[in-house]
Amino acid sequence: MSQKIPRPKLDELIACDAKHACPPNTKEGNCVTLMAVGDLPTRFGEYQVAAFWNDIDKKEHAAFIRGDVTGKEDVPVRLHSECLTGDVAGSLRCDCRDQLEESLTHIGTLDHGVVLYLRQEGRGIGFNNKIRAYQLQDEGLDTVEANLALGFSDDERDYAIAAHMLQALQVKSIRLMTNNPKKIEALKTHGVVVSGRIPIEILANAHNKRYLSTKKNKSGHLLEQGFE
Ligand SMILES: [Zn+2]
Ligand SMILES: [Zn+2]
Repeated sequence: MSQKIPRPKLDELIACDAKHACPPNTKEGNCVTLMAVGDLPTRFGEYQVAAFWNDIDKKEHAAFIRGDVTGKEDVPVRLHSECLTGDVAGSLRCDCRDQLEESLTHIGTLDHGVVLYLRQEGRGIGFNNKIRAYQLQDEGLDTVEANLALGFSDDERDYAIAAHMLQALQVKSIRLMTNNPKKIEALKTHGVVVSGRIPIEILANAHNKRYLSTKKNKSGHLLEQGFE
């Protein structure tokens, strides 16, 4: 028999969050609201899935919640940005699906934790532009060069929504599963208390070796493995 996992008081949170409204002219100018929650048994363990509305990008973001995270400190959290090619088709060009599975597997062994699933495809440049960047990479550019060639910065992701989602779940502080120090800094600027980091390392394959070495050598990711 699987052990009964304590449930978050998410119904109360939904009712409470519905009444909240951020002032329209806050620094980020955004508001995110917890809309609905359902049980989600997964191959990685028992989760609940929460749906969020927001007024920045109008996308419907999700949180996969394990156990009771409300009012807790040092909650293990992973921020995952949507990657259609990796998450759905198992693309080997990146390590997104490996990281997602690793996060859900790890958190699935714990009493509580959260995976935020952010609908910001292609480091925030959108699906069409991501595939245009792939086309440029096929012609020889690396991931950073390709994004710059399309007129974007290396990383266009915005963590204001993630910060607000954690606030809606009333998570007090987090231990972030990441190798990316910039992600920690970005969350802190949006008021999230990051009390620690949990490393997450996926070994390179022949297709994503250059992608991962660019992450390490150009984007400052803290990866243990060495690259030529
Ligand atoms: Zn708000
Ligand atoms: Zn990916």
